Amino acid sequence: MAYFMVASCINCGTRITFNPHLVPSLIVNGTKEPLCKNCADKWNQIHRISKGLEPVPIQEGAYEPQKEVTDTDYQEDLDE
Ligand SMILES: [Zn+2]
Repeated sequence: MAYFMVASCINCGTRITFNPHLVPSLIVNGTKEPLCKNCADKWNQIHRISKGLEPVPIQEGAYEPQKEVTDTDYQEDLDE
């Protein structure tokens, strides 16, 4: 079993499914809001590549379901 989040991209509004631990995001009013892959690529182009910086890599699995976590793993997440 696996789970994933569904939300709208904070930039363009496209509905996306994503892994909340891996998806690129922006902090808006103190809340982490997800970016779709297109917008993450655009963000990299504008904020990194155009300035001669390395793009921030999009983590593998960012737009795929999260593997099921055990109660122990979940507890460890809460402790962080
Ligand atoms: Zn987007």
